[in-house]
Amino acid sequence: MVKLGFVIDHRVCIGCHACTVACKAENDVPLGDFRTWVKTVEHGAFPDVRRSFVIERCNHCENAPCISICPVNALYKRADGIVDFSTEQCIGCRACQAACPYDAIYMDSRQGHTVAKCNFCSHRIDAGAEPACVTVCPTQAIIFGDLDDAESRISRLTLDGVMRPREELKTEPQLAYIGVDAVVLAADRTSERPSAIMTSPWDSGLNASAPPAETAEPHDVYNVSHSAPWHSLVAAYMGTKSIATGVLLIAALAVGSGYEPQRTLIALGGPAIALLLLAATSLLLVADLERPERFLRIVLQPNWSSWLVRGAYILLAFGALAALWLVLEIAGAHDAVRVVAWASLPVSVATAVYTAFLFWQAPGRELWRSRAFAPHLLAQAVVAGAATWLIVIAVAGAERELYELLAAALLGGLAGGALATASEYGRGGTAHLRRARALALRGALAPAFWLGAVLAGHLAPAALAAAYLALDGPAALLVAAAVLALAGQATQDEVWLRAGQAVSQS
Ligand code: SF4
Repeated sequence: MVKLGFVIDHRVCIGCHACTVACKAENDVPLGDFRTWVKTVEHGAFPDVRRSFVIERCNHCENAPCISICPVNALYKRADGIVDFSTEQCIGCRACQAACPYDAIYMDSRQGHTVAKCNFCSHRIDAGAEPACVTVCPTQAIIFGDLDDAESRISRLTLDGVMRPREELKTEPQLAYIGVDAVVLAADRTSERPSAIMTSPWDSGLNASAPPAETAEPHDVYNVSHSAPWHSLVAAYMGTKSIATGVLLIAALAVGSGYEPQRTLIALGGPAIALLLLAATSLLLVADLERPERFLRIVLQPNWSSWLVRGAYILLAFGALAALWLVLEIAGAHDAVRVVAWASLPVSVATAVYTAFLFWQAPGRELWRSRAFAPHLLAQAVVAGAATWLIVIAVAGAERELYELLAAALLGGLAGGALATASEYGRGGTAHLRRARALALRGALAPAFWLGAVLAGHLAPAALAAAYLALDGPAALLVAAAVLALAGQATQDEVWLRAGQAVSQS
């Protein structure tokens, strides 16, 4: 077997950027995007200040997260070990950009809005030539070859003393460094306070206010920017999915257990609202693709290791059960509806929580890798379902008993969500997690987190629901609680998404 890899020898590299330029010319890389780049970091206090740099690119990981998460196998490993990509197959979901823990992938506007990255100049390899960066390097600092050939120069070079980036993530990079300063390889230590002089901000909305670095701590003084791959449409999709699953979950419990008051409203409204919100969820998912016309490939040409694919099939099962339920209810087949209601319970739970497993497929984004996230999504579904039902029965009319049950569900969901939030943001971790957390709790996202998610999204609705139950208050209290809870949940999802992507991974 051939297993191609790179060694970059920083004992002789002079940081001239020739590899960056040659790569851009060879692969027609657009302005602002890079397949390989030079990152420079300063650290230390005067007079012991050091400036170190490193050449970065795709690591052609043995366990490549980009390949696992790509729903349509647009990223794949060749027999020679190169992680290559197909512009013809890519649907532009940006999942690989979210998953790559080295920020090695960009969205290529010239290739029809599909992803691209270092692919070892595979067209040159196939023609028997070297990658362009290897050819152009004036000091022969970039060595490539077969890592499986014990006699190759690269194999001898990697025998000892090499370093690989973020090895703790177990991606097994096939790119090794010799003589590199360890500080510069630690992505999670080098971008909190970038210099105002040379670095493009990672997320201009979040980091633009960061002061110029005046610290002995390592900080980037030159790096390339990588935009966050997932935006508000993803947060919106999480919100509509949460409402769809929560509404059906509560309806399933009521109908399945034989709860009689407002049975028709619940048995008809449950699947109808769920289908409506599922349609909105699907539209948001498709709209978020760079190539929406290719969306059917997710189900027709699936990569089963991707939670985007598994999630799509879970959504299909959820939609099929809700539609069957609606048809049976309209036909008056109440016994069959009860069976379908029970069957839809586990599917609703799966629909609510699968997104946690999708986010888990991004090993470098530590904030997202919380074991509390799946239970949190379930709690969010309960809150969203109870809140939606409270608004529905306020319009349609209902007995107080139903208001009280839904108020209790809302309180339970809010309590579960608060516990999960405390766990997600309170756990220990690396500097990467601490930095994302600081951004949410004390940085640019703090107003949204504390005022939107905590105060308006949890404390206020909980107080209103508790007041309704304790003081026999008017239903308007619960409607206000419901609206606040839904708005707070949307804010919390937005903070979660942005904080998880705000810390540099390269
Ligand atoms: Fe995929 Fe990123 Fe690893 Fe390259 S470095 S193989 S793009 S996960």
